[in-house]
Amino acid sequence: MKNYRVALLPGDGIGTEVLQAAWPVLQAVADKQGFGLEGDWLPWSCDYYLEQGVMMPANGVEQLRAFDAIYLGAVGLPATVPDHISLRELLLAIRQGLDLSVNERPHRLLAGVTGPLRTEKTFDILCIRENTEGEYSGAGGRVHRGGDLEVAVETSIFTRAGVERVLRYGFEQARLRSGKLASVTKSNAQRHSMVFWDEMTDRVAADYPDVEVTRYHVDAIAARMITHPETLDVVVASNLFGDILSDIGAAIQGGLGFAASANINPVSGGPGMFEPVHGSAPDIMGKGLANPLATLWAGALMLQHMGESAGAAALMTAIETVTGAGAGTPDMGGSLSTAELAQAVQNAL
Ligand code: ATP
Ligand code: MG
Repeated sequence: MKNYRVALLPGDGIGTEVLQAAWPVLQAVADKQGFGLEGDWLPWSCDYYLEQGVMMPANGVEQLRAFDAIYLGAVGLPATVPDHISLRELLLAIRQGLDLSVNERPHRLLAGVTGPLRTEKTFDILCIRENTEGEYSGAGGRVHRGGDLEVAVETSIFTRAGVERVLRYGFEQARLRSGKLASVTKSNAQRHSMVFWDEMTDRVAADYPDVEVTRYHVDAIAARMITHPETLDVVVASNLFGDILSDIGAAIQGGLGFAASANINPVSGGPGMFEPVHGSAPDIMGKGLANPLATLWAGALMLQHMGESAGAAALMTAIETVTGAGAGTPDMGGSLSTAELAQAVQNAL
């Protein structure tokens, strides 16, 4: 029997609520599918920081490396610890330490969910975002502060290795899906980095003659996600563009209660980190109002990445059996609590 070890990082606020609700459902999937799933709860969070003065132990990243995957709730509770500390010392430290360079987000309307567009069109997009460089590299500076000559410079950094690995990952996913890939740039306005991205797209595409590639400018594809989403499948974009496009995707699929995300190292194959896109939502914490579906969906991504495709598919089917029947938490217009919705999914397995 295959046995997987998962690091469970509930984190803060509703992060703890959704992870506690979702984990037993994943264990039920494992029981049904006949593989072992063992979880270690790690208390690294803002509470931990208040006691220990750090968000995680000095060897935290090394500890995580020993697991098959990391399953995260949400981190950050600005009323107790400023976000720049909690996010940098935990989330960014893990992302950089494990070199999780690809951020993958499935945007799809689940059965029974209409979303704000109320469209009949197929909405099923896999957004793949470069996660470590590009426009969010932090390179730049300020001169002549406060004066009339004040200047701020923010430099994007695109490396051959960074662009190639995210594109290659996108092509691999396109092969597993419909064989269509959209490469997103703004090469008509950004003549260095984005032209480089286009060149890299052509180069990688040569290894995937079976994948149909279309180039889009980011403004055009943003509109297309709303007007013609059925023409899109895998969408690969830089850090900034992927950030924005995946927020549009999350909105169309019904909001943060549904949006799941995988952080992956496609080069080493080390543990990935799987999490809902939403934060700790202090406004609704402790009330049982949090929607656990984004976390359950992230759990399905985790099973998929660990090689348990049948388990992932069974979990998604169970989720859609429940949404298709109209059951949900208050953000979905329903009346179930976090625990009740997760239990309903488990019953549907
Ligand atoms: P961030 O961490 O991004 O700075 P935040 O932690 O303040 O933001 P988010 O968790 O991102 O808040 O969510 C914003 C709002 O969306 C929340 O205040 C909450 O009302 C709602 N929300 C987020 N996640 C969920 C969920 N799983 N179920 C129901 N409502 C949610
Ligand atoms: Mg937050």
